[in-house]
Amino acid sequence: MARQDVGGVSVPTDHLIGGEWVSSPRRFETRSPMGWEHLADIARGDEATAAAAVDAAVVGFQAWGAFSVEHRADVLHRLADLIEAYNDEIALVETLDMGFLYESMKQRLVARGALNFRTYADLITEHENHTWDAKSMRNQVQRMPAGPAVVITPWNAPFMLSTWKLAPALAAGNSVIHKPAEWSPLSAALLAELTLEAGFPPGAYNLVQGIGEEVGAALVADPRVRRITFTGSPETARHIGRAAAANIVPFTAELGGKGPFLVFADADLDAAAHRAAWQFDDSGQVCLAGTRLLVYAEVRDEFLERFHHHADALVLGDPRDLTTDIAPLAHPDHRDRVHGFVERARAAGDVIVRGGQPVKNSLHYEPTLIQPASNDSEVVQREIFGPVLTLQTFADEDEAIALANSTDYGLSAQIWTSSQIRAERVGAAVRAGLVWVNTFLVRDLTAPFGGCGISGIGREGGDYALDFHSDLKTLMILDDSTK
Ligand code: NAD
Repeated sequence: MARQDVGGVSVPTDHLIGGEWVSSPRRFETRSPMGWEHLADIARGDEATAAAAVDAAVVGFQAWGAFSVEHRADVLHRLADLIEAYNDEIALVETLDMGFLYESMKQRLVARGALNFRTYADLITEHENHTWDAKSMRNQVQRMPAGPAVVITPWNAPFMLSTWKLAPALAAGNSVIHKPAEWSPLSAALLAELTLEAGFPPGAYNLVQGIGEEVGAALVADPRVRRITFTGSPETARHIGRAAAANIVPFTAELGGKGPFLVFADADLDAAAHRAAWQFDDSGQVCLAGTRLLVYAEVRDEFLERFHHHADALVLGDPRDLTTDIAPLAHPDHRDRVHGFVERARAAGDVIVRGGQPVKNSLHYEPTLIQPASNDSEVVQREIFGPVLTLQTFADEDEAIALANSTDYGLSAQIWTSSQIRAERVGAAVRAGLVWVNTFLVRDLTAPFGGCGISGIGREGGDYALDFHSDLKTLMILDDSTK
């Protein structure tokens, strides 16, 4: 089995198929956003790799799907224990591979990965089948494991998002084939290695590395796959959706966002401005970020002054340093993509209020604020996925809601107000799957998670994801009394 030393951590660089490490003759390289240094050469799966992984997952499903709920939950808790034990290694490798702030990984995101498995282990053990009497029958809804599930994840928060998607698929009793993103494949390899110690039967958990259009496309086209769950861009979701349709396979898609960040006159302006500046967190590579600042016109200047104050305090630097707030973007292609949006905005007459340039000799991009010439500007209507926010004003609540709902996306929204009544009224009118009032990102993992419009199909979280990964069966037994 091939391995590579990454910052002192030994990382497997092959696929994990049927409980064995499997190589590919072709490799692709992953590089670090810090200095663009070469990190590892990873197995580049092809159609044969995808077929072998599905073969293994079909076998693995027979064993894993037959485990009792308690046994499954034990294995998931053991995996969570192992994740906690390898916290620092996972955190460091993810930081080197993707550029995520090391301290955030170490303190929050690896732990969240473990919590994802624990949450689903607990949900399946606490679950009781819905049972009721009607039409002279005892009715019961049962969940049956659906079969092999393909889990495809993006590069921006690889470990946390992978665990979030893998946990319900496995908890439901499905075998999985995980295809992580080619820009940040390493933490998935560490996770796969931990599954070997956790007690999964061979083939229940498979990892396939490679390029989306190659091995990813082959996986989703295989008719033996019974669930596809995807997080990534709407463009890729269209391809995967076509493959899912061809095989009549249920498919969830968690896609991009263009979240409105609404600031009303009665808001705690400093708290709102502080949080607005923190939308630059993770260099804006966050689907949930509130990237469209929509501010009540009469408080715009005061808000902007406070926003600049907080944004000025953000430190761009090496994600391994404790003092760093803003890390480099994940990839030079992505830096160029982000800058392309800003350059086109400048050319189209949008006003660059701050930032607007890549930082020399690094992949950092200046935290940027743009005042668009119109609501139709590309920077308002398209997800940039970098540290670029727009600033617009509204005259009243109706206009605020109209602007909030004026893109094709509908993943998240933030509302900043001190009025409970307004929070509920505007919250109900905004078209988004997740709406935060005076806070951001904090979430109970049993709540539904997902987007409207081109932000996604279906919901993850709690029982919503377990239902998706199951075939629901209604059992109807004629009541004794009616015999
Ligand atoms: P992407 O769509 O380019 O790639 C995502 C994954 O799909 C990768 O693993 C890639 O290899 C794979 N892929 C690409 N083409 C494929 C194909 N034809 N068949 C099968 N798999 C294929 O997305 P990305 O650039 O990695 O991620 C960024 C996007 O993800 C942004 O739009 C962001 O908003 C979104 N995102 C959404 C959420 C959410 O929960 N809604 C969370 C994080 C990221």
